[in-house]
Amino acid sequence: MNAGSPVNGLSVDVEDWFQVGAFENVIERADWPALATRVERNCDAILAMFADAGVSATFFALGWVAKRHPALMRRIADAGHEVASHGWDHARVFRMDAASFARDLSESRSAIEDAAGAPVTGYRAPSFSIDHRTPWAHEVLAEQGYTYSSSVAPVAHDHYGWREAPRFAFRPVASSALLEIPVTTALFAGRRLAAGGGGFFRVLPYGFSRWAIRQVNRAEGRPAVFYFHPWEIDPEQPRVAHAPLRSRLRHYTNLDGMAGKLAQLVREFAWGRMDALAAREAARALPLAA
Ligand SMILES: [Zn+2]
Repeated sequence: MNAGSPVNGLSVDVEDWFQVGAFENVIERADWPALATRVERNCDAILAMFADAGVSATFFALGWVAKRHPALMRRIADAGHEVASHGWDHARVFRMDAASFARDLSESRSAIEDAAGAPVTGYRAPSFSIDHRTPWAHEVLAEQGYTYSSSVAPVAHDHYGWREAPRFAFRPVASSALLEIPVTTALFAGRRLAAGGGGFFRVLPYGFSRWAIRQVNRAEGRPAVFYFHPWEIDPEQPRVAHAPLRSRLRHYTNLDGMAGKLAQLVREFAWGRMDALAAREAARALPLAA
């Protein structure tokens, strides 16, 4: 790693294998409590990997998970990581209105803070679901006193994306210091490519992510924001047979190779918590142009 390279933001979206957006039409929320949980063992493996590499990160947890696994929240916080919010039960923000979003935010925050014994100041929308359809969302986050959100994918994608959004930290609400810190994209031939993790990191060769993060760090001088999920390092997770083929392909490809790729990534670049990244980015974040 280079002296002078920005410290990037490392994040884990803490949800179980049955809570992912890709399966929401085949697994009912009412059935969640009966399913075999894997989130705790997978997060413990991630904590061990981060401890080996000596890195701190942010864990965006579902309130639903925090309520059922309070000891896990406490272990994450005690290991020096930031515990932040990923909403209550993975409902997408663009399917809510301002009032139901406010309720979802405050209920999940209480559950996570009670479990972790630490304040929650950051938020990540499920499936990056803050976009042009939710002009009220950042205002609700600002009203509730959040310091930052990392809820926007500034790219065109079939499931999500706000393609016109700024690529780096910005101030979405004129009257507030709230920052939005989008997940990383890299520029290639004038186009924005999703390069901040998830399925792209798992499916594409490691070299693509290395190129993209170097490009953002060195050519643009900005920190990257990377995310992954506990189920992505778990090849033994139960298989969802009735999901559409496309969802299954996305979800199950390269689970075996993921832990090794992540170990390489965390060693090759400088990483830290999202709240620390937000503090460093605050000075140069521009207001969102009206
Ligand atoms: Zn999620």
